[in-house]
Amino acid sequence: MKDENCIFCKIANGEIPSATVYEDDRFRAILDMGPASKGHTLILPKEHFKDVCELDEEYASRVLGLGGRIGAAMKASLGCSGFNLVQNNGASAGQTVFHFHLHVIPRYDDGAPIVTWDPGSADIGELKETAERIHEAL
Ligand code: 5GP
Ligand code: ZN
Repeated sequence: MKDENCIFCKIANGEIPSATVYEDDRFRAILDMGPASKGHTLILPKEHFKDVCELDEEYASRVLGLGGRIGAAMKASLGCSGFNLVQNNGASAGQTVFHFHLHVIPRYDDGAPIVTWDPGSADIGELKETAERIHEAL
């Protein structure tokens, strides 16, 4: 299903032109218009899913492998030495376009830090209590 008000539905289905890295029956991978680094790619499903919680199993089973394949191609073609797979869900997590997408972000040896956080701390009791709360909701 597509959402006629969704820009990523239009890009994924070729209604809006894009710098396309890869296309198959389910996905189009395009260059991000605001790249975090040279080659920053977005993998877009051709159907509309708001986020990973809505993604159907067929798409979910293929998207990670495609991310790895594109990342390997970036290393072979762009000279990056690594890459991040990033996928934001919800505004608080940084999602700005509410059509599922997987970022593939090339990382260069002399590049600035991109995906980082300051490690916090937690004691084992707190970790166990938090783990239990998540587990019970699965
Ligand atoms: P999010 O923050 O939702 O995980 O990522 C959205 C990404 O989509 C951003 O990195 C942003 O630069 C990119 N983006 C938003 N609109 C467009 C567009 O129309 N074309 C392309 N190529 N990238 C877009
Ligand atoms: Zn969409």
